[in-house]
Amino acid sequence: MTALELRELRKTYRSRGRPAVEAVRGLDLGLRSGELLGLLGPSGCGKSTTLRMIAGLESVTGGDILVGGASVTGRPAQERNIGVAFENYALYPPLTVAENLAFGLRARRRSLRGDVRRKVAEIAERVGLTDVLDARPAGLSSGQKQRVSLARALIREPDVLLLDEPLSHLDAAQRDTTRRELKRIQRDLGHTTILVTHDQEEALSLADRIAVMRDGVIQQLGTPYEIYDSP
Ligand code: ADP
Ligand code: ADP
Repeated sequence: MTALELRELRKTYRSRGRPAVEAVRGLDLGLRSGELLGLLGPSGCGKSTTLRMIAGLESVTGGDILVGGASVTGRPAQERNIGVAFENYALYPPLTVAENLAFGLRARRRSLRGDVRRKVAEIAERVGLTDVLDARPAGLSSGQKQRVSLARALIREPDVLLLDEPLSHLDAAQRDTTRRELKRIQRDLGHTTILVTHDQEEALSLADRIAVMRDGVIQQLGTPYEIYDSP
């Protein structure tokens, strides 16, 4: 089953007095259910724009986005079940970690009762945040903030998970640990995932397939072995 499909996806940014930027120019891609695709490519090639369009955080200039076979193009973000952990997707400072996670479930009330409390505890345990559930974002390390952002994306049991440089703020040792954790989470939960990364090791250890983007299109697509072994 194709869990996520992009058909001829396009994005042109137009602003007054500036030349139009064709950030994504006819991108075709299909992910099968449970697959983790590593998305690589130089800065400015259109990776973030692609993720934002899938999430519904950016309008589409052309083409179609299908989740589980149904088009979500033009639907608002709230109507898509897409989990996003973006570098600049800030946590709410006044809320505790637990409350930020509950927000991922769209819990209306801040009180962490019943089901919400159970899910928050479960996901916190999974990503190693149990000890900081009552802390506020300002008191966390950047690694912990990234975990909160990941947990908030996971808690909703999304149809598709989008991770933009999830290990970027970590030092080498933390990155190693977190990479292993991500791998375990992926194996246990089996989300259909796109992971944007610059890190070859991250891509090699986590990705089922790798797509290399350049100038708004996918230039190469294959297993990590095929991509890194090709001249
Ligand atoms: P990447 O994530 O691969 O670095 P982006 O998707 O951020 O690439 O950017 C692709 C192109 O679109 C770049 O040329 C960038 O400058 C441009 N771009 C990104 N966001 C905007 C925006 N909001 N307005 C205008 N141009 C943008
Ligand atoms: P979704 O998460 O599907 O985008 P939500 O209803 O959760 O939809 O969020 C509505 C809006 O609030 C979104 O447009 C998003 O940009 C913004 N948002 C969601 N979570 C946060 C957050 N933790 N911090 C800041 N803004 C957020």
